[in-house]
Amino acid sequence: MKFDELRLSKPLLDAVHASGYETPTPIQERVIPLVLKRKDVLACAQTGTGKTAAFALPILQRLAGDVAPSRKNGNRNRPRQNHARRIRSLILAPTRELAQQISDSFSTYGRNTNLKHTAVFGGVNKNPQTRTLRGGVDILVATPGRLLDHISDGTIALDTVEILVLDEADRMLDMGFLPDIRRILKHVPKSRQTLFLSATMPTPIRELANDILSSPVSVEVARVSSPAESVEHWAYHVEKASKRSLLSNLLNHIAYSRALVFTRTKHGADKVVRHLMRGKISAAAIHGNKSQNARTRALENFKSGKVGVLVATDIAARGLDVDGVSHVINFDLTDEPETYIHRIGRTGRAGASGVAMSFISSEEHDHLRGIQKLLGTKMQLASDIPGYKAPTEPVVIQGDERRSGGGGKGKSRRSNAAPKQAPYFPKKKGTRRPPKPGRNRSGAKKRTVQSATQ
Ligand code: AMP
Repeated sequence: MKFDELRLSKPLLDAVHASGYETPTPIQERVIPLVLKRKDVLACAQTGTGKTAAFALPILQRLAGDVAPSRKNGNRNRPRQNHARRIRSLILAPTRELAQQISDSFSTYGRNTNLKHTAVFGGVNKNPQTRTLRGGVDILVATPGRLLDHISDGTIALDTVEILVLDEADRMLDMGFLPDIRRILKHVPKSRQTLFLSATMPTPIRELANDILSSPVSVEVARVSSPAESVEHWAYHVEKASKRSLLSNLLNHIAYSRALVFTRTKHGADKVVRHLMRGKISAAAIHGNKSQNARTRALENFKSGKVGVLVATDIAARGLDVDGVSHVINFDLTDEPETYIHRIGRTGRAGASGVAMSFISSEEHDHLRGIQKLLGTKMQLASDIPGYKAPTEPVVIQGDERRSGGGGKGKSRRSNAAPKQAPYFPKKKGTRRPPKPGRNRSGAKKRTVQSATQ
């Protein structure tokens, strides 16, 4: 199917083509016509499927084509807002980064329309948001907490919302936002169109969906448990104390364009970053204890290629859309199999290939079992490879033997020095290599990471 068959208006099609998209993704094919027909939608879709455009494009089309409704009853207490523009679509997202990303998508897809949008989220000064809101917006993307602040300040009224979107609803639940969402819903008209997106559908999420959707059409584009098909899964047995050494060693020997590393704790993320920086591998951390400015800077630098490694906790990394993440590394394995799916959803996006590597200490074996069950396949264990020896002691890597990171897009680390320890990543005949980064790597013959064939 082509985008042109989706009955989108010319300004939107032009924006889509300018983004380089040729064909709609499966969720776009299914959801766009439903939204245009004003149906409520319950979509079970993982990130990386193109779900943002699936709701943003038809919302833009609907709002650009429709005349804003006049309010039936004048309300003197209504917040001071530009009367020409009222919030007609509200998109709720769990994290600041996701809210910003969705807002960026509206900028991209709505560039040829006159619709105005903005994002409001916590952790930054409220005043600039208030000023933008007073100027009037048609589409508002918000995280629940800051939205409620603005509502109680009287800077936002939601009584003209026609289309409500809940994105990543399961993560909202995990983050304890369900009471906030129920409070927000009281401010939104009952008669509206609602789009509900979630990667997984645990019972409380189904219950919420039942409460707020009216005769929804269910759309499921991939099994809840199915990871991006283009991702290879690798597991490394390594004791906790050796994980940091294994990580820096790996990063010095694999060709990665961008690597996203997940740790269990914020403190752990900082420790990993310090370790990598000591080894001259450019890295930044993103987690809830960082100021919003630091989070934004870390993400920007990762996106631009200034830092090659982003170390994140699950909450902060949720929903991040960064092109060209070649490797997701589970420094700490999650005990929630579905979180594994979310993590690896950062790579292999929109059809690109990717590699997921998991460091598994003896305490994490049970987690591995759960993940493999959900994946429906066994991860390739690095220790199963003939010749692989799990590290028993930290590997010393001399800083002057390696170039520092911090290069541009597609930069990979290289080492002119052989690893001090017997091969971590022995060569295995007949296996595929991880994807090549954007740039050549002169130490290529040293790269001996195995690739699972599944
Ligand atoms: P999302 O699931 O919305 O986070 O989107 C994942 C990525 O897919 C984003 O980088 C989008 O820019 C990209 N994308 C969305 N729709 C398409 C499409 N039809 N063709 C190619 N890439 C797309």
